[in-house]
Amino acid sequence: MTASAPTRRIAVIGGSVIGLACAWTIARVGLADEVVIHEPDDSGPDGVPTSGAAWVAGGMLAPFSEAWPGEEDVFALGVASLRLWNTFLADLAPHTPPGREIRSATHTHMLAVDDADARDLEMAMSWAEGNDVVVVEGVKGSDLRRVTRRELRAAEPSLARVARAAYRMDSEGAVDNRVLLAALARACRAEGVTWVRGEVGSLDDDDIAGADRIVLAAGAGSAALAGLPIRPVKGEVLRLRARPGCEDAPRGVVRAFVRGRPLYLVPRDGGLVVGATQYEHGDDRQVTVAGVRDLLADAETIFPGIGEYELAEMIAGLRPMTPDNLPILGADPDDPRVVFATGHGRNGIALTPITAATVLAELQNRPIPDAARAAGAGRFRRG
Ligand SMILES: Cc1cc2nc3c(=O)[nH]c(=O)nc-3n(C[C@H](O)[C@H](O)[C@H](O)COP(=O)(O)OP(=O)(O)OC[C@H]3O[C@@H](n4cnc5c(N)ncnc54)[C@H](O)[C@@H]3O)c2cc1C
Repeated sequence: MTASAPTRRIAVIGGSVIGLACAWTIARVGLADEVVIHEPDDSGPDGVPTSGAAWVAGGMLAPFSEAWPGEEDVFALGVASLRLWNTFLADLAPHTPPGREIRSATHTHMLAVDDADARDLEMAMSWAEGNDVVVVEGVKGSDLRRVTRRELRAAEPSLARVARAAYRMDSEGAVDNRVLLAALARACRAEGVTWVRGEVGSLDDDDIAGADRIVLAAGAGSAALAGLPIRPVKGEVLRLRARPGCEDAPRGVVRAFVRGRPLYLVPRDGGLVVGATQYEHGDDRQVTVAGVRDLLADAETIFPGIGEYELAEMIAGLRPMTPDNLPILGADPDDPRVVFATGHGRNGIALTPITAATVLAELQNRPIPDAARAAGAGRFRRG
């Protein structure tokens, strides 16, 4: 493809968070005569899919609280995306459904409740602090800081006094994933994006083969379409709704290790989201008794007030995981018509802005963002 070749039609396969964000970003700059999303599921508000992981997700923007030594590239990509969120949200603001907010939390506390978890948390956070300075050009450090028990109590008075160690970040927080999906769908419509309702069986389907470029954003469904090493990793979450007189939910995101299990509480319009379990069960989206039991027990250890909340929803989704936890972004070396935007695992909401920016740069034949270079498809394709 040359930069000057006119692009008539771009087909985006998958119309969940990544597909919608890519379609909107492409359509906004007028890169093609037609941008078409191929997505079978229109069961949610504004016609968004409810079967993708994005409908289920906690919505955390969490490169620091997900940081782990050895995952330098994952961390760098997450930090680069975090820095794009304010502009991304400002651009989406006119499309946000009336009376709703996309951002649902503007800070995060990370806690450990026993000594072993405290040691792991301290190790991961000091690694993240050190790496942030190295990987993000021109930015010195972050707003990550250790907080005392007294500071934690003042910031989040409804939490039990169980933390052995705690850190805070003001630049993480969360978005409401369902409001985000609705806003993206509205933004796509405003830019003239259209939908074909149906599952794509193969990249040789007539509809797809006729497109000049193809963006593959089908989450866990991308493996079958392009032979990529993406596996579904099941996660369960609970949605709790506040009832009159119950204790206020935490003000920001709270992440913790409880009995060695990761747990998060995310404030959400009138309640909170509790997540998440993690199992390698293939294509299984059923919510299990053991999953719900563990989530409730761990959440109650951190936030004893949950007992009074309404258990409004239990839901499971499939994270599209790759072997190295990095997504697969950029042109397919085996078929340059195809641009991958998939394999986002646990972080697809957080990585939405950098993914859309990378796909756009690739389609425009411009250099992709530095932090996205390690996520190229070349690591799984010979070319
Ligand atoms: C329990 C849980 C909690 C999570 N929490 C967070 C979080 O806090 N923060 C975060 O950043 N990320 C989180 N994630 C991860 C995040 O949800 C995913 O990484 C993200 O949704 C991936 O987006 P996607 O659009 O690629 O895929 P999905 O949202 O899974 O959507 C894929 C879409 O592709 C469509 N599709 C599939 N096959 C085809 C086909 N053949 N033809 C046409 N369409 C097709 C599907 O219908 C679906 O709509 C969580 C995930 C889970 C399961």
